[in-house]
Amino acid sequence: MPDTILNLLSRGAGTDTAIGASGASGTRVFSFDRLRRQVEHTVATLRRLGVGRNDRAAIVLPNGPGMAIAFVSVAAGATAAPLNPAFRGEEFEFCLRDLGAKALIVADGDDSPAAAAAYRLGVGVLRLLPSPDMPIGLFDLTGDPVGAASTDGAAEVEDVALVLHTSGTTSRPKIVPLSHANVCASARNIAATLSLGPSDRCLNVMPLFHIHGLMAAVLASLSAGASVHCPPGFDALRFFAWLDEVRPTWYTAVPTMHQAILARAGRNPDIVGRSTLRLVRSSSAALPSRVMAELEEVFGVPVIESYGMTEAAHQMASNPLPPGRRKPGSVGLPAGPEIAVLDESGAPLPAGVQGEVAIRGANVAAGYEADPEANADAFVGGWFRTGDQGVLDEDGYLTITGRLKEIINRGGEKISPHEVDEVLMGHDAVAQAVTFAVAHDKLGEDVAAAVVPREGGSPTAKELREFAAERLAPFKVPRTVVVVDEIPKGATGKLRRIGLAGKLGLTAPAR
Ligand code: AMP
Repeated sequence: MPDTILNLLSRGAGTDTAIGASGASGTRVFSFDRLRRQVEHTVATLRRLGVGRNDRAAIVLPNGPGMAIAFVSVAAGATAAPLNPAFRGEEFEFCLRDLGAKALIVADGDDSPAAAAAYRLGVGVLRLLPSPDMPIGLFDLTGDPVGAASTDGAAEVEDVALVLHTSGTTSRPKIVPLSHANVCASARNIAATLSLGPSDRCLNVMPLFHIHGLMAAVLASLSAGASVHCPPGFDALRFFAWLDEVRPTWYTAVPTMHQAILARAGRNPDIVGRSTLRLVRSSSAALPSRVMAELEEVFGVPVIESYGMTEAAHQMASNPLPPGRRKPGSVGLPAGPEIAVLDESGAPLPAGVQGEVAIRGANVAAGYEADPEANADAFVGGWFRTGDQGVLDEDGYLTITGRLKEIINRGGEKISPHEVDEVLMGHDAVAQAVTFAVAHDKLGEDVAAAVVPREGGSPTAKELREFAAERLAPFKVPRTVVVVDEIPKGATGKLRRIGLAGKLGLTAPAR
């Protein structure tokens, strides 16, 4: 059977639960057969509205079962482009234009700035609404046709299922197209690592516009005939109630979420005691060994740290389940793609020697879209260079030791410093802006910026933060802005973001 999202659903055929939701009326579930019908219905509707195979449909929906189902349905027939609902109007406009979106899918009645941006750009707005003719919880799409669909039928294996922007080290975020072959390979890799089967149920707390939640929670589960329960998003206060109500066998999260869960575990000993978890997964940022140990102690189950990246349709390496050995501080063994540590010339290095982590395999994107320069840098000798620094040990376990790329990793949320620079430079009183990472005890890193005023200008830090907050989603807004006469340079006279925090007397993140 060809590797497509539609075919991925076949493992669960006849199984009662694919996607679960909680609401005022209790828990509702959608069977695999219903999900399949919804997928087929959505693909037919998209075609009728003029969205063909490989046409891009941006999706801006709140986290929850509707988003999970919309993602699977759209990706099965066209190219899904999930966007962060917290974006500001300018960010939506950039994404819709850059992706060449043919349509935008929003909830009915949603007056998100995404819809306004779509109208400005002439992108068709399709509204998702519960249809009276559909079984409860399922939906219909309405809107004016956006033209005629150039292609018909379900998507095929080399079609692009999903496009995401990744924070670039150049000023432009890069577009990562992931084919059905990529996402299906990744879903199966994750399911195999975690030994997922039809009796598993994931509690999804990850945002469904990020590769981690889309792949590990949703598609890996569905590929194994397992189910995923979708509450409205992460909420440390409600997590334990969900744990009790949903009775999941696992959840996957970023380290900051695990820390917030641990902080409340002491108040919920009964729920923890009767928890049905068989594993906890962590990815997208380094999991401190102490947090891993505490989680294992509290839940009494293995904590599996994995290493993921958008360009790899998420998982690259993972610690194994018992009886395999988990090594705290390590991201584990290659878990799908091959992994090598390369020197600057692209030659593989032996165990114990630090270099750049590179991957190759069926889950890895073929290349960035319309970015020959980035591709020439990243794809070398058949390998994709991740921009992460690491070292393999004698047993083949990988440890991430630092980063060559300048992306800021704010507890798993990635921020392109160039994007923040450009926004700050848009302020009349700013001559130069350089955004960089500062250490943060819970998030690992947070966003800071150094700003040089124009002659005669005297912008305050508060004013600049407010200016940025109007144009950037909250997680990208620099917590700290320092106004300086000159940005300190490195020994070679080159401006380097890495190390800038220390030079400015701020706490530098560990590398
Ligand atoms: P994203 O594309 O948002 O998934 O981010 C990918 C990046 O997150 C990787 O290139 C790493 O820099 C970082 N990352 C992901 N997982 C881990 C991990 N377990 N430990 C350390 N860094 C990680």
